[in-house]
Amino acid sequence: MKKKILILGGGYGGLLSALTARRYLTPEEADITLINRYSTHQIITELHRLAVGGLSEQKVALPLHKLLEGTDVGIRIDSVTGIEPDEKTVKLASGVSMSYDHLVIALGSETAFFGIPGLQENSFTLKSVEDAHRIHDNIVKSIDRYATSKDPSDASFVVGGGGLTGVELVGEMADMLPELCERNGVDFKDVKLYCVEAAPAILRGFPEDLIERAMTSLEARGVKFLVGLPITEVDGNKVKLKDGQTIESNTVVWTGGVQGNSVVANCGIEVNRGRATVTSQLQSTSHPEVFLAGDSAVVMNPEGAPYPPTAQLAWQMGETVGYNLFVAIKGGAMKEFSPVFSGTLGSLGRKDAIGTIGASGLKLKGTPAVLMKEASNIRYLSHIRGLFALAY
Ligand code: NAD
Repeated sequence: MKKKILILGGGYGGLLSALTARRYLTPEEADITLINRYSTHQIITELHRLAVGGLSEQKVALPLHKLLEGTDVGIRIDSVTGIEPDEKTVKLASGVSMSYDHLVIALGSETAFFGIPGLQENSFTLKSVEDAHRIHDNIVKSIDRYATSKDPSDASFVVGGGGLTGVELVGEMADMLPELCERNGVDFKDVKLYCVEAAPAILRGFPEDLIERAMTSLEARGVKFLVGLPITEVDGNKVKLKDGQTIESNTVVWTGGVQGNSVVANCGIEVNRGRATVTSQLQSTSHPEVFLAGDSAVVMNPEGAPYPPTAQLAWQMGETVGYNLFVAIKGGAMKEFSPVFSGTLGSLGRKDAIGTIGASGLKLKGTPAVLMKEASNIRYLSHIRGLFALAY
């Protein structure tokens, strides 16, 4: 009998689950439907460039119908509001309920605000194309206003969090703001661009010399790092730091952390701090007909520590899940998930980057790192047929 597979989420994990499952399962064997809140697959690793107007939306928002063309995977644009794993149903914002035989949860993560007063209400986040547009609009309007208002909070920009998201964003802003100021007759010297990091150093996990390289490169372009200084409150446009200082800014972007998706955390499958726990074959530890791909799950490395939630992990999880769906329906031996890490690359604006690649952790900086980051992006796009979608 034909099985019904629902895939929740059209990000890296969901899209790769769908494409891989369909490689092995014919439409006669399985009905596959992918549910996503947007009609596009968003390349969220490039959102920092969209947030400064550095590339067009078409490059980071690829139409799902193009990517899935000819695969007989159904697409439903809707938001998942609930999952009832014991009833094997999924509830959608439109009011529709959908049943399944096998489910893939690939709903990604959410921004963590850690209960910091006023933070959620008074900051921008960078998790979607819409978020990136909001940040861009606000930056442009603030500098435009500053030209006449001369209000320092219009020329002050705060990025909270010095992880890769924060650093990549501040790098793009450092490159874009001087041009924007010039166009508006504003002296760039009036602009204050802060990256505020709670930990003693930015870019946790990176080798010390690369962290230093990143700071030197960004400071030379006007970024002021405030390190070891947690944001403790945001009151309107006043960002309060642990040492008592306050920065007034009309553009506060929060990139200080991610947490599990709340729909997953509250649906009744087994979770660990809001992220689903999985077997080595990426099935839910409580519901074997439910598979997990991407940040919605927590995957442990052989030493028992969680892998960081990254795009490359989500992508590889999606491929394993796609194959294991085929085994779940047709029989055989499921694949164990064993990720391969090709490295981590972080951009520092348009012309600089740092990174480590391969198992040896070879360090890259400057042009080789920029080119390697570009190459890894193109590799992903060609893998998902994104280059084809971009041609339209
Ligand atoms: P993160 O959790 O890696 O970094 C958040 C940073 O915010 C941390 O350094 C943390 O100390 C800081 N922070 C927390 N509370 C704070 C406070 N109150 N005040 C100031 N700073 C505070 O989050 P991320 O940067 O969004 O990255 C999430 C995951 O995605 C990571 O695994 C990362 O490696 C990955 N990622 C990868 C890339 C890439 O490969 N180029 C790009 C972006 C993200």
